[in-house]
Amino acid sequence: MPTALVNALVVLPPEIGGPRITTLRFDSSRILSLDKPPRRGDVVHDLRGWAVYPGLINAHDHLELNHYPRTRFRPVYGNAHQWGEDFLRVLDEEPFASLRRVPLDQQCRMGGIKNVRSGVTTVAHHNPLHRPLRDRNFVVRVVQRYGWAHSLHFEKDVPGSYRRTPRGAPWLIHLAEGTDEIAADELHQLDRLNCLHSNTVLIHGVGLSEADRKQALMAGAGLVWCPSSNFYLLGRTATVAEFAAAGRLALGTDSRLTADGDMLDELRAAATTSQLSHEQLFRAVTTDAANLLRLHDVGALLPGYLPDFFITPADRPAVDPYWALPQLRPEDIEAVFVGGAPRFKRTGGLWD
Ligand SMILES: [Zn+2]
Repeated sequence: MPTALVNALVVLPPEIGGPRITTLRFDSSRILSLDKPPRRGDVVHDLRGWAVYPGLINAHDHLELNHYPRTRFRPVYGNAHQWGEDFLRVLDEEPFASLRRVPLDQQCRMGGIKNVRSGVTTVAHHNPLHRPLRDRNFVVRVVQRYGWAHSLHFEKDVPGSYRRTPRGAPWLIHLAEGTDEIAADELHQLDRLNCLHSNTVLIHGVGLSEADRKQALMAGAGLVWCPSSNFYLLGRTATVAEFAAAGRLALGTDSRLTADGDMLDELRAAATTSQLSHEQLFRAVTTDAANLLRLHDVGALLPGYLPDFFITPADRPAVDPYWALPQLRPEDIEAVFVGGAPRFKRTGGLWD
C-alpha cells in the first residue's frame, strides 16, 4: 500500500530546487511521486517539523571489520602499507585472534548496523562480496556490481583485477594512502598499468599531487575521501576540492579499525577541514557518490528512485538542511527506511 509523507521538509538535490516542504509518496519498491497530494487508500503521515533526507551512500567500508578496536602500532605512518604489514603481524594475537573467530555473518551485520544507525542505506564494500552481503534482506543495500583490488602493494595482479571488472561497473582501489614517495608515485604506476579510466575509483588519495589530481580527473576517475581514517594513520588527509567541483568525490567511512566511527563522525571530520561547501558535502554522500559508483536509482528522493531515506527533527525551518547534515548526532536519527520500510527506528519515537 502506498505511503504519503505530507508537510515534510524533503531534502532534494540543489539542481531540483533544493530542500522544500512537500509531499513524498512511495511504496515498497519505488518513490511514486513528489509534490503530488496523497491519493485515496494511501497511508498518510504528517511530518510537520521533520526533515526527510535521502539515505546516505557510504562509498568505502570493509563491512566485516567493524567489530575491531581502532588500532595503530605507531603514532604516525608514512604509508598505510606499513600499517597493513603491522596488522598482519598481530592477527594471531589477542584481541584479534578472538575477534577473527566471530562468525562472518555477525561480523558483516555489525558493519551493516553501524551504517544504518547513521543514516546510511547504501554501502560500497571493499573486499570480496561475502555471502551475507548478497542477501536482499541485509541491513543496508550493498553495491553488488564492482571490481576491486586492495592496493598496488597488496594486490599481485592489478591489471587482471581491472580487466575482470564487469562492464560499466566501478573498479575500487586504495591508492596513494600515504605521504611518502611511494604514495606519491602510485598514480603514475596505476596509469602505466593501464588502470586509470572513468570507472576507476581511487580510495584515499592523500599522496596525490596537484598534477596527479588533474590527471585523474582528465581520465574521468573519481576519489573516495576518508578523512578520519587518514588523520588517524597519516596525520593528514587528501586535497579534495577539485574532485568535488567536478562531481567526482564521494565520502567513505572506512572500517572502525582506523576510522573515528560512523558516517556522522566522517561527515563531521570532512566538514572540519573546510575544503567543501555544505552543498558539496551533501552531494558527496548522495548524488555524486551514486554517479561514482554507477548507481542509477539511489541518492535522491525523486520519482522512480528507491524509497531509501532517513528522518531527523527540523524544528528550526530556517536552518539549511545541507548545513545541518554534518552537525547531526546519533540521537537526531529518528528512523531510517530502506525499501520503504523502517530498518532502524528510535524506541518510543515518531515511528513507534
Ligand atoms: Zn579501506
